[in-house]
Amino acid sequence: MTKNNKQLDKIIALAKRRGFVYPSSEIYGGFAAIYDFGPYGSLLAKNIKDYWWKKMTQEKENIVGLDSAIFTSPKVWEASGHVSGFSDPLMECKNCNARLRADTLLEEVGVFADEKMSEKEIIEIFLNNKDKHKCPNCGKKDFSEPKSFNLLVKSNLGNFTGDFEKDPAYLRGETAQGIYINYKNVMDTSRVKIPFGIAQIGKAFRNEITARQFIFRTREFEQMEMQYFIHPDMTKDEYEKLKKERWQFYLDLGIKEDNLKWKKHEKLAFYAKEAYDIEYNYPFGFKELEGIHARGDYDLSQHSKHSGQSLEYLDPETKEKYIPHVIEASGGVGRAFLAIICDAYCEEELENDTRTVLKIDKKIAPIKVAIFPLLKNKEKLFNKAKEIYNNLKNQYYCEFDSSGNIGKRYRRQDEIGTPYCVTVDFDSLENDDVTIRDRDTMKQHRVKIEDLETFLKDNLNV
Ligand code: ATP
Repeated sequence: MTKNNKQLDKIIALAKRRGFVYPSSEIYGGFAAIYDFGPYGSLLAKNIKDYWWKKMTQEKENIVGLDSAIFTSPKVWEASGHVSGFSDPLMECKNCNARLRADTLLEEVGVFADEKMSEKEIIEIFLNNKDKHKCPNCGKKDFSEPKSFNLLVKSNLGNFTGDFEKDPAYLRGETAQGIYINYKNVMDTSRVKIPFGIAQIGKAFRNEITARQFIFRTREFEQMEMQYFIHPDMTKDEYEKLKKERWQFYLDLGIKEDNLKWKKHEKLAFYAKEAYDIEYNYPFGFKELEGIHARGDYDLSQHSKHSGQSLEYLDPETKEKYIPHVIEASGGVGRAFLAIICDAYCEEELENDTRTVLKIDKKIAPIKVAIFPLLKNKEKLFNKAKEIYNNLKNQYYCEFDSSGNIGKRYRRQDEIGTPYCVTVDFDSLENDDVTIRDRDTMKQHRVKIEDLETFLKDNLNV
């Protein structure tokens, strides 16, 4: 096992042990490529989403929010090109029936299929190199012919015929389509003018063939997408501005800049003008965290053509009529979550011990403050600590913990990334002060109880 796989295994174990991420349906033996977020995981995911939402909508005069439904008319996915072109090359191992992606197997023999290759080319190259490939599951070399497999997840919503394949309604494969089909509604009902954006956070579903690498690639996931509608002449400037902002977003979440890099798409989709991904250095290598793409007028033109509705914009000043161009920022909550915990994960050697600590940026840490009475069975300490907890919990997610020794309580909070621990001891009863311990430096100092709120406000940055 490589060092990096070990690192990922440790992170997965901590995520499970501390209630961040659970494999789905565990009591029934699991359900592949689906995960549930536990008490701390759901808080961390919420904090990431809230920060994104604040940056994207609250702090932007010309970007509005949307919460469109997961289901749409199936026509949406025909117009968008997903029904005909959203696929991966799938094949099966004839010995163990493992489902595999031809492009992934090619990678294992050093052939990297990127945007330069069409799916047909990938399949062709695979077939030409057939003898080199082994099934990663059983080691045999007997595969079925690769076939194009559509990633859209189908449902029988509204279909009472019993024929599941007939007119399926799709679970959305991305949140962006919900934005395009509401572009006109938003224009007509809010006071936006080009350039403007529509932001949305929500679930998306893809029948990923090989879902591996923990929550990096799952079949149900959440996206944070912003589609920005512009005049074609604005593309270059607005695209550069968006790229800068999205890079800064990840730095603001505490990710080390060395662990981020840009990847330019070498061969663009036929409609795209420019496409870059922000990649994060996951334990399994640099992989896509978010895509920033200039999509031209493809999406609105397609929906205009298929729906028969004009989606043109009339500039109120110049009277110019045109279909707006789109630039988008499209990121995954799960991938941001994984990048954040990988980046924050540290093992530190102490004098007689080691500690595992998640140095998560304070503003998104799930629990901001833990409050401990030094001893659990001393009523006065207990009550004083409870009083502090009751005061602070209106403002911050706090935890009260009176179990075990203080060292163990610190370790637990370190592992869930709590920035501050407050301990009430016997001096607190005399002096109305407490010990406050910093997660990262482990330094402790005394603060008057009446100054605690100000201290936290100044230091938590929320
Ligand atoms: P990949 O090439 O890794 O499959 P993609 O290029 O298909 O990703 P997009 O369609 O651009 O991804 O989706 C935008 C974002 O949504 C991605 O940058 C990623 O953060 C997230 N995302 C896409 N697919 C998944 C998935 N299966 N699981 C988790 N997140 C995903």
